[in-house]
Amino acid sequence: MDQTNILVLGNNLISNLLRRVLIKNKIDHLNFAYPAQEPERRFFAIKPTFLKWYSDYFNEDLHNHYAIKHIQIFVDYEELNLKDTITRPFPLFNIMRSDYLFESFSRDLDDIDKTLKADEDLEFVFENDEVIFKNYQISSKLIINTDFRFNKFLKIKPEREEKKEYDEFAVTAIFKTDDNLDNRAVQYFRKGKILAILPFSEHEFSIVLSGLKKGDEKLVDDSGEQLINFIKQQSALASVELSSKINCFPLTLYKIKHDPKLRSLFIGDAGHKVHPMAGQGLNLGLGDIQMIDKLISDKRIIDFGQENSIKKYAMTRSVDESIVMNLTDLLDEALVNNSDVFSSLFKYPIKLIENSELLKKILVRKMI
Ligand SMILES: Cc1cc2nc3c(=O)[nH]c(=O)nc-3n(C[C@H](O)[C@H](O)[C@H](O)COP(=O)(O)OP(=O)(O)OC[C@H]3O[C@@H](n4cnc5c(N)ncnc54)[C@H](O)[C@@H]3O)c2cc1C
Repeated sequence: MDQTNILVLGNNLISNLLRRVLIKNKIDHLNFAYPAQEPERRFFAIKPTFLKWYSDYFNEDLHNHYAIKHIQIFVDYEELNLKDTITRPFPLFNIMRSDYLFESFSRDLDDIDKTLKADEDLEFVFENDEVIFKNYQISSKLIINTDFRFNKFLKIKPEREEKKEYDEFAVTAIFKTDDNLDNRAVQYFRKGKILAILPFSEHEFSIVLSGLKKGDEKLVDDSGEQLINFIKQQSALASVELSSKINCFPLTLYKIKHDPKLRSLFIGDAGHKVHPMAGQGLNLGLGDIQMIDKLISDKRIIDFGQENSIKKYAMTRSVDESIVMNLTDLLDEALVNNSDVFSSLFKYPIKLIENSELLKKILVRKMI
């Protein structure tokens, strides 16, 4: 039987960054994954604190990003302005391309060790001080799963601590405009829909439109005509031209409850899935990796899968997870599902925050 310290499951942004961290810490590992899916180009809002960590950690900068220096949030027509005076010298956040991130995270990595068949039935056996991947006779101290498709095979099934299928979907698409976007992201919460306009150059932006329900499909037909009209109605943009296909995403909310006895960590979207309104899903996964780095760089720990390590990981990460999950879920309940009744309740806090630099700082520190 082959032995390894850590078995990494998945081939995605999170798994690749994790492998680079394991290599830097000289920890032997194997990487198994399902066949790669056709990648589509997407844009993510990434926290400046991650870019700083990456640059210090790998001694290499992630250059390709567009700085957001001003966020405007509208609840109906009530307005909240967050400016980078709060975070200077850093911007509020950066917009980054998925393929650039993927390439950067994969730098100097060998090919994955084994590509599994998409329909392969997998068997993992949990013993006292190891996990055995029966199909390939591999024993490891710890499994780190980054792909939710493996979740069902991790035998004593992990419970989902919180779970909810939103009866909502979101779309993303890319547009050009003649207007100058001026490093400003805008988010509109109106009539149960949430539209985020995320510029990635002076004249190009990507959108995340959520709060879409059954019947809203007509808004996002392939021509993009209705979507363009919707964006023009909401925003101050005079010219808007679709320059990508429109991608649809069903929305779910869940968080895996880690069992300290199971020698398994679920990170990235395999461990938690959140509403996209706050642009925090990938950022949570990047935070997971920074926490794993803290665990494995502790030279006193020989067995990374031991109960205490899993407990420490789960406890530390649950703070960030809970903030994002509770806030986005509360906003979704109030502004998407009960929009007429509750949206007025949010107008007073919006006014209060708009008039207080201290409250703005607190908000930005928690979310950005
Ligand atoms: C509508 C929507 C908007 C979101 N916006 C944000 C946001 O602004 N900020 C944020 O932090 N999170 C955001 N998220 C959450 C985020 O999408 C997930 O948390 C994240 O994708 C999970 O990372 P992953 O490693 O599983 O990557 P995956 O989802 O597997 O991959 C992420 C992207 O990387 C690229 N990629 C993957 N594999 C390859 C490959 N083999 N070659 C080249 N490229 C590849 C693809 O373009 C893919 O879309 C959003 C989610 C949704 C549904």
